[in-house]
Amino acid sequence: MDIKLFYQLIYIWIALAVVIFFTLLFVSAPYGRFTRANWGLMINNRLGWILMETPSLFTFCYFVFTGTAPINGYVWFFTALWVIHYFHRSFIFPFRIRSKNKKTPLAVVLMAVFFNFVNGFFNGYYLGNFYQINNDYSLSDPQLLVGLVFFMLGMGINLHADQVLINLRKNNTGEYKIPHGGMFRWISSPNYFGELVEWLGFALMVNSLPAFSFFIWTAANLVPRALSNHQWYLEKFHDYPASRKAILPFIL
Ligand code: NDP
Repeated sequence: MDIKLFYQLIYIWIALAVVIFFTLLFVSAPYGRFTRANWGLMINNRLGWILMETPSLFTFCYFVFTGTAPINGYVWFFTALWVIHYFHRSFIFPFRIRSKNKKTPLAVVLMAVFFNFVNGFFNGYYLGNFYQINNDYSLSDPQLLVGLVFFMLGMGINLHADQVLINLRKNNTGEYKIPHGGMFRWISSPNYFGELVEWLGFALMVNSLPAFSFFIWTAANLVPRALSNHQWYLEKFHDYPASRKAILPFIL
């Protein structure tokens, strides 16, 4: 595909993210604590996660390795980071969460599958076909190093916060409690904050339009969700820490 057309498609994709952002400010995606029965067929929550996330893993790798550009060390490295993230999210995370026979709407799963196919395609296709043309990094490039630090830090925050939530359900009752510790001191959804920092880091490292579009999509999904989660905590727990923000410490 011509790079001009490729970029035009991504601009349309980013415009869609903006629409989704404003929609999600008014309608919470009906999964997890916001699951609603009127969204049609429901499937097992764990199966839902596996179905949602694997397309990203395979589509990305397929397009990286079938591209026309030679695969240099940087592309291998970015691919490894992507695979580590998505292998965890597809095959480890779903078996660690304790969501007591919880179900999730098939419609939500199908929307996420669509997103992950498109996002995996844009990012994989770029690295498999255009990366060499547009990037001339050296290992000391500060943007690459800053991006890597962000990626690792974000992943660490995300994993830690998800672990705190998993630990809250030690006896797998399916109930919700107030999380404490780590970045929960400051915000209600540090797992989302970590995810945002992680993909901002990826975008800085790869320095490509598709990688930035992924960051924008992550924000479009997770910022409204974090605001809803925060409001939900405030309504459910009267002793919820008053100084805690939703997703950006001290700010939002
Ligand atoms: P949540 O924080 O809503 O839930 C994570 C897990 O913890 C679920 O099993 C949930 O149970 C449980 N949980 C949440 N809060 C509590 C609580 N107060 N007490 C006890 N258990 C709790 O995260 P999501 O499910 O939305 O996302 C999971 C991961 O996927 C996150 O790391 C997120 O960053 C990532 N993600 C990334 C996206 C992206 O665009 N890149 C999009 C969506 C998610 P239950 O299911 O019963 O609510």
